Amino acid sequence: MLSPCLSINKDGHLAIGGMDVPALAREYKTPLYIMDEDYIRANCREYRAAMKKHYGDNFLVCYASKAFCTQYIYRILDDEQMGADVVSGGELYTAHKAGFPMDRIYFHGNNKTEDEIKLGLSLGIRRFVVDNLEELELINELSTKNGKITDISFRIKPGVDAHTHDFIKTGNIDSKFGVALENGEAMEIIEIASKMTGVRVVGLHCHIGSQIFDNEPFEHTAEVMMEFLNCVREKLGITITELNLGGGFGVSYVESDDPKTIDTTVKLFTDALRAKAGKLSFPLPFLVIEPGRSLVGNAGITVYTVGSVKEIKDVRTYVSIDGGMTDNPRFALYQAEYTICAPEKMNEEKSECITLAGRSCESGDLIGKDLMLQKVSRGDLVAVFTTGAYNYSMSSNYNRVPRAPVVMVSKGESKLIVRRETYEDILKNDICE
Ligand code: PLP
Repeated sequence: MLSPCLSINKDGHLAIGGMDVPALAREYKTPLYIMDEDYIRANCREYRAAMKKHYGDNFLVCYASKAFCTQYIYRILDDEQMGADVVSGGELYTAHKAGFPMDRIYFHGNNKTEDEIKLGLSLGIRRFVVDNLEELELINELSTKNGKITDISFRIKPGVDAHTHDFIKTGNIDSKFGVALENGEAMEIIEIASKMTGVRVVGLHCHIGSQIFDNEPFEHTAEVMMEFLNCVREKLGITITELNLGGGFGVSYVESDDPKTIDTTVKLFTDALRAKAGKLSFPLPFLVIEPGRSLVGNAGITVYTVGSVKEIKDVRTYVSIDGGMTDNPRFALYQAEYTICAPEKMNEEKSECITLAGRSCESGDLIGKDLMLQKVSRGDLVAVFTTGAYNYSMSSNYNRVPRAPVVMVSKGESKLIVRRETYEDILKNDICE
């Protein structure tokens, strides 16, 4: 099985967190996201334990909210002493309404609006991760107006190739996020900020991309960023005390994905950081990391019901499900790969090569092409592994399809944490007088 939270039970059914998936599908209907709370908590603990073991107490593990943002997840994160990063007013507001401590929030984004910045300032978040000069000027102006000094960090493009899909690569100069090292932009913006009265530069941040399985780019990034901290000290006389290395640690969507353990990855980049800091006689910074999908990705599945099965002789077989790009747009966006199965037929061989098709009015609305699956027909269930994370966050009402609900399982019980949207929910913002 791709994730330790998945198993096959005595009835030959797929189980998540020990709970029978077909039974959950009957109870909550499909399409349905199911997440394993205990496994998410275990992942949080594993990250914190690894950081403590390899770096001491001077760290914060922040969850990247975009991976799966609901009020319930912030309760888990708070219990587990995690921080969180947000990239929009909506994510920030969700965390706030869930009672999550604002002094553990990092606010990212390449185009924060004035209203979002005001919201962050009024809620007293821990850190704005400033993306560009206009944003810096705006935060400085708003802070000065309110007689405040706001602690900020900068999003830096360290120029590291992350060996992942182009759409989820963010560390090189040709990225919309942040300011680059190699053309002097990063040093320049820090110098400008150092002369402002409404902000104080306390941190640097980078995030080189997602679904990275190779540890070398993380090590390299830690070294590059540490060297840059030293350059800032030498050139501007400013000792920056916080370093945020972002997320990007890969999870298995298919058998060939081979993520390193959390402990191994954390050891490698903290060792690299410590060695470089030692060489440069630079005090070890407060270290922040921001895993997203590696905390929740492998803790969830999406379950669908099969509708039509269209066998086109000598071409392909389309198995259509009652969801698709509205609950999982990742294949349409960047050809994400998945493993699928028929939860009621786990002891049967995966004998069919099929294309799993969504029901939206787009030919590109597929979950995957040429996937192996047990023989299924109308009414059977299909589960897509390692989904839930990102997919719920990215879900939409395209074709006015109601968003699917999310169920959390824990210790043999299930709980609805996001209810299924109704047609009325979809209409509620329409004005038609
Ligand atoms: N931090 C930032 C700034 C990001 O943009 C992202 C993802 O896009 C993450 C953290 C989390 O990445 P991942 O889910 O790959 O760990």
